[in-house]
Amino acid sequence: MDVGTHFWRNGKQIPVSEGKISVINHALHYGSGVFEGIRFYETDTTPAVFRLKEHMERLHYSASFLELKIPHSVDALCEANLELIRTNKFTSGYIRPVAFFGEKKMGLNPHGADIETVIAAWPWGKYLSDDPITVGTSPWIRIHPKSLQPDAKINGHYVNSIMSSQWAQNNKYEEALLLDYEGNISEGPGENLFIIKNGQLFTPQLGTILNGITRATIMELAEKELGISTTEKVLKPEDLLNADEAFFTGTAAEVTIIKSIDGSQIGTQENMISNKLKDLYQDVVSGRVDKYKHWLSYC
Ligand code: PMP
Repeated sequence: MDVGTHFWRNGKQIPVSEGKISVINHALHYGSGVFEGIRFYETDTTPAVFRLKEHMERLHYSASFLELKIPHSVDALCEANLELIRTNKFTSGYIRPVAFFGEKKMGLNPHGADIETVIAAWPWGKYLSDDPITVGTSPWIRIHPKSLQPDAKINGHYVNSIMSSQWAQNNKYEEALLLDYEGNISEGPGENLFIIKNGQLFTPQLGTILNGITRATIMELAEKELGISTTEKVLKPEDLLNADEAFFTGTAAEVTIIKSIDGSQIGTQENMISNKLKDLYQDVVSGRVDKYKHWLSYC
């Protein structure tokens, strides 16, 4: 994996060789950290990060549930991300900021442990296939909102996603779909879900899902550019099975169209609206649409 020459750690850039942590580290043992996943794209000028501020705000939001006080403001973190891309001379890729409880404390209550904030970046192509993918319903349900905080990107939560992804791979699906504790559709291990029925967009309401930044982007683009509003509501597995089209959204997954669920094809697979949104999204993130350039932070 090409992580470039530098990481950013606790306020300054460090050579990659210094990016090491002790085996005695609270987050390593218990998952007590928060993270983000951000993409930056090649544009006709410098590389640009998509919706950077929203990602850094979500990092702080996630941290609040762990009482993890990140000692860097949203603005300072935004600048750190941009500097890191410049230093590493990447043209496009992925950025991974993580803030976590580190050394000096063991035992479940993390207070007293060092707080570390690090950022790494690397070139990253497609996360899922560019072609429509096969999806299977995971036997693991999405985390319960009374056990954990589903709209926070807390590291420990992701064991639920890891096990679902492993299940999907072991069962020859390209991605998993997780239901919630009531058997309704929640989301993918790292993606939100949309379905299209009779020309209208539907997506699960907030509650057991991550409040995806790509999800919000697609809702806005669909409304403003295609005149299609999105209804956020409870979706049942049958709604997906009987959909005309369906797709996942996520920073890594971008817009990934779904071919089938548990072996049953979705719609006719013409995917007229999904393809329009997928192309529009690529144009927007690459700075080809003036109207949405305010979502880009140029390096
Ligand atoms: N759900 C989960 C569980 C995720 O990890 C992600 C990726 N961050 C998403 C949805 C999509 O969110 P976003 O569009 O903000 O990347």
